[in-house]
Amino acid sequence: MTSGPEAHLDEAYDPERFRALGHRMVDQVTDYLKRAQARDLPVLDMPEPQAMLAAWPSEFPSEGDGRIVERLGEFIEQANHLHHPGFVGHQVSAPLPAAILCDMVGSLLNNGMAVYEMGPAQTMAELHVVRFLAERIGFDGGAGGILTHGGSIGNLTALLAARQARAGQDVWTDGQQERYAVLASAQNHYSVARAVRIMGWGAGGIEPVEVDEDFRMKPECLSAAKQRAEDSGRKVLAVVASDCTTSTGSFDPIEAIADYCQEHDLWLHVDAAHGGAALLHATHRHLLAGIERADSVVWDLHKMMLMPALITGVVFRENRRSYEAFAQEASYLFEGDDPEKEWFNVGVRTLECTKRALGTTAYVLLQALGTDLFAGYFDRALALTRGFADLVRVSDDFELGLEPTCNIVCFRYSGGTTQDRDGLQSRLRAGVLATGNFYLVQTRLRGSTYLRLTLIQPFTTLPMLEELLSEIRTLALR
Ligand SMILES: *Cc1c(COP(=O)(O)O)cnc(C)c1O
Repeated sequence: MTSGPEAHLDEAYDPERFRALGHRMVDQVTDYLKRAQARDLPVLDMPEPQAMLAAWPSEFPSEGDGRIVERLGEFIEQANHLHHPGFVGHQVSAPLPAAILCDMVGSLLNNGMAVYEMGPAQTMAELHVVRFLAERIGFDGGAGGILTHGGSIGNLTALLAARQARAGQDVWTDGQQERYAVLASAQNHYSVARAVRIMGWGAGGIEPVEVDEDFRMKPECLSAAKQRAEDSGRKVLAVVASDCTTSTGSFDPIEAIADYCQEHDLWLHVDAAHGGAALLHATHRHLLAGIERADSVVWDLHKMMLMPALITGVVFRENRRSYEAFAQEASYLFEGDDPEKEWFNVGVRTLECTKRALGTTAYVLLQALGTDLFAGYFDRALALTRGFADLVRVSDDFELGLEPTCNIVCFRYSGGTTQDRDGLQSRLRAGVLATGNFYLVQTRLRGSTYLRLTLIQPFTTLPMLEELLSEIRTLALR
């Protein structure tokens, strides 16, 4: 008999104990999925943060109690339930159940992938997924890139490459000799502003470009924006197009922006974190017309591709650009001075050193389930959005903030008195959340508050959304 740490480790790594726990866990998750999909629990039942903090034991005992399945069960109960069809809030997918199994194997193998030998199969899966994204974008065989942990890191990675490519000097080695800027509409995701500030460009690092009444960038305003940036002593390196934008799901017109970039030798980065999935469906591809002219594209698979967070493609039209984001020598990892010779060591091109095997989950799901599933899901989400917009349009007491193009809808209750209309929307949202039937968010448009839906849950139906409207109406008239 062993005792002490060995005994604990033996127990913790015992395969048969794991088998028993695993079977119980799969049963628990399956029962949960059934309940969530049947709307048999509140979408979100959320105590105040202080009460929540106090409710969770914060002591970590020296002797464990083995209650892994029970503890995970508590997390499940107290979560925001994305598999509930009433989840119409933020842009996060209800992951495919099979993704759980992929992640389980990913966690078990824990192959870090910075260098090929630390994850040979995982590296190939990643590169094949990137190739798939590149083909859907319409890039030719010269394209390439990597997967990374989220659109925020993705935008930073792409803009680092843009700086290295367009600054006219080796910023990575020599530091910044000039003040730089990118042009982007004010609707860009805040991760772009963060990327720019991380690079040391400060608040003026983004020069805003005006948008039209549907919150799309006005390409005819790019010149004036560039001039403003230059007048304040900055060199403009790139334009960031948002396709689609986070607040309203609006698509910046890529073709016209690409013309401008070509004319002025600017890098074009398309932030398609949310909208990239439109490229999977013949009917919706046109939303991103011209994207094949981009220098870099960010595409989140954990938004409109039913995968768990975080899996993001950063795809470059010219693969060699992807080596310039982190043009750094780490000779103990990477041999030689031509990084492209080491295309199989993906760590030269990512912010991460050790990284989860993101490509494995994406590769297995795309291979095993087929791409039609994802295309059909996207099409369904847009059809549901059109249906909901129709409901709002024909009602007397709701109004749209704008006609939706993607699966994001901004609308508000417009019945009753006009006093404190903004405060009313917030109270209505809080009221809906308290019923537990739906989870939605809110946003500000043109200085006013709107309710905001992302129709991302694969099982939300139009009758359910009719229920949502009548729930809001009831709360308003109370
Ligand atoms: C969600 C989103 C991001 C940020 O991506 P994360 O994966 O959440 O880091 C960036 N840009 C756009 C347009 C987005 O919708």
